[in-house]
Amino acid sequence: MDIQKIGVVGAGQMGNGIAHVLAVAGYDVLLTDIDQDALDEGLETIRRNLARQVSKGRLSAEDQNSALAHIDTTLTLTDLGPSDLVIEAATERESVKQAIFEELVPKLLPHTILTSNTSSISITRLASRTDRPEKFMGFHFMNPVPVMQLVELIRGIATDSATYDACLCVVERLGKTAAPAEDFPGFIVNRILMPMINEAVYTLYEGVGSVESIDRSMKLGANHPMGPLELADFIGLDTCLAIMNVLHDGLADTKYRPCPLLTKYVEAGWLGRKTQRGFYDYRSETPRPTR
Ligand code: NAD
Repeated sequence: MDIQKIGVVGAGQMGNGIAHVLAVAGYDVLLTDIDQDALDEGLETIRRNLARQVSKGRLSAEDQNSALAHIDTTLTLTDLGPSDLVIEAATERESVKQAIFEELVPKLLPHTILTSNTSSISITRLASRTDRPEKFMGFHFMNPVPVMQLVELIRGIATDSATYDACLCVVERLGKTAAPAEDFPGFIVNRILMPMINEAVYTLYEGVGSVESIDRSMKLGANHPMGPLELADFIGLDTCLAIMNVLHDGLADTKYRPCPLLTKYVEAGWLGRKTQRGFYDYRSETPRPTR
């Protein structure tokens, strides 16, 4: 099927990145949020990131202007009804996503494909509460969206192959690469990445290494571009903990038990870069380990 009009729900860090890459690829994007400030900030971030791509020579000024002309915003969710594809990237709470789909579904065209960028909620369960589980799937971008190459495409139990193929075409037109994944907790990337980060926190908790020695070991010893604790701060420690809880609950295996030290950092409100403190303290020019 021919996808041209794409609705994006949520203008936060993922939603604005998704709108950005879709617009650069020439799709007509309608971006919505419940909060006017979030929409304004989202659009401002897109402008800034497009300008950065131009200054680095990765995008022409002409393409920058044409991308901006492809993005419209609205506070009215149901304006997304006539889209060919909807990508939901609102807050990671099941009740929020469910309410969005409930309001949107009666306004959708019969052919509209519905997708969610969720990192951890069951695609099959979200799909089962819509009128189109066969046209529903996971469209999981990585952060930051304009930079990261991968999109995980997650099939719910009912997703049909025409829906999968249409989403795959979108990923390819974005110049990104898809990895197909089945709908189990954490899908592929977080199923593997989060237990590694959690293990790094256990390694710190048990005193095997300091923050710096753990990060240095994985950078120089395993060729990772970022150490696991530095990466956890970048993702957000609350997000890491939430995903570990999803793995622990959904797979019922003690190997996914979140490290008590990770819980303690989250309880302290030390959530990583976004709060200026996590495994590192970012309040001075050079980040300093907090343990
Ligand atoms: P965010 O908090 O930056 O943005 C969420 C946005 O959704 C906010 O602007 C909020 O106002 C808006 N919103 C809330 N309720 C809404 C509603 N009813 N209608 C419209 N908009 C609504 O969050 P984020 O990091 O962009 O995450 C969004 C989704 O992407 C989540 O499902 C998350 O799991 C997923 N995700 C996040 C990352 C990441 O690294 N942050 C990576 C991959 C996937």
